[in-house]
Amino acid sequence: MSRFWSDVVHGLQPYVPGEQPRMADLVKLNTNESPFGPSPRVLEAVHAEAADSLRLYPDPTAAALREALAAYHHVTPEQVFVGNGSDEVLAHAFAALLKHPAPLLFPDVTYSFYPVYCRLFGITAETVPLDDAMRIRLADYDRPAGAIILPNPNAPTGIALARAEVAALLARHPDKPVVIDEAYVDFGAETAIPLVAEHPNLLVVQTMSKSRALAGLRVGYAIGDAALIEALTRVKDSFNSYPLGRPAQAGAIASLQDEAYFQHNRTVVIENRGRLAAGLAELGFTVLPSAANFVFARHPAHAGAGLAAKLRQQAVLVRHFSGPRVADYLRITVGTGEQVDRLLAALAQIL
Ligand code: PMP
Repeated sequence: MSRFWSDVVHGLQPYVPGEQPRMADLVKLNTNESPFGPSPRVLEAVHAEAADSLRLYPDPTAAALREALAAYHHVTPEQVFVGNGSDEVLAHAFAALLKHPAPLLFPDVTYSFYPVYCRLFGITAETVPLDDAMRIRLADYDRPAGAIILPNPNAPTGIALARAEVAALLARHPDKPVVIDEAYVDFGAETAIPLVAEHPNLLVVQTMSKSRALAGLRVGYAIGDAALIEALTRVKDSFNSYPLGRPAQAGAIASLQDEAYFQHNRTVVIENRGRLAAGLAELGFTVLPSAANFVFARHPAHAGAGLAAKLRQQAVLVRHFSGPRVADYLRITVGTGEQVDRLLAALAQIL
């Protein structure tokens, strides 16, 4: 701590990242990465870029990637913003849009970065409690507020909202920015992107980190009305005019070109999620209905922290949560079939 720190820094906590161990035999189910590699086409594109073009600056407007994303999602390139992972895209959205007359609303159990960005950008927030089934109740967002951000599916619960519910929320709130964070949408939720055409206040944020297995490449993006995208771009340009490095731009375009690979991997994750949820239920866990690449589960007789520590001794990493509503829960990433089996076998021994 230093007397030269600003008040903003005093309010921030040191970031504690999810464990990233190097031991090859660990079953790593703690940070919601893909258990599969990315498309071979991505690897080719990244290699080619590394061989030929690392000495060159990237395109500061990421025009080719934005065009590819626009074509993929049936919007125009002016409706697409890209950044280094959706975390960076969200940071720009908080700075550019979510400071809109306070308060900003989000669920009391949700993605942990939202309160962090509020502190960083001096945004007043109000949290809205989940209901007893740990669901987001959109009627509770009909109260005086300046902006709304919701993940769909929510994290860490994994529970999804239907597109019709999001559309109804937007119809009731045409006057404030609404950001839907769709980091996990490809694993079984409905994207709000088709609603962008009718709702100039809607920003949809997606990432290539999960369903496209590119967490290490850092590619996230937002889709919304061109005026919202321009706001994000102005904020980004004030920090750094280069959004993504050359390998990231090339790799992301290649990922969009391999639809078969994307569809296959997300389908396998969805199948394995079913096996994982069923196996946990058999062991006595209560498992929330997940539309994501993880499940959120708790055992009536065992607290999450103790279970996570015992699993760690068996070389299986999962995430446990602390806090009033979630202390008993484990968040377990959906792995390969073999990883699911190892996790369930380890739990069967522990319980
Ligand atoms: N939103 C949510 C809800 C997340 O869980 C994550 C992943 N931690 C992100 C955004 C950010 O992912 P990335 O920066 O890798 O795109």
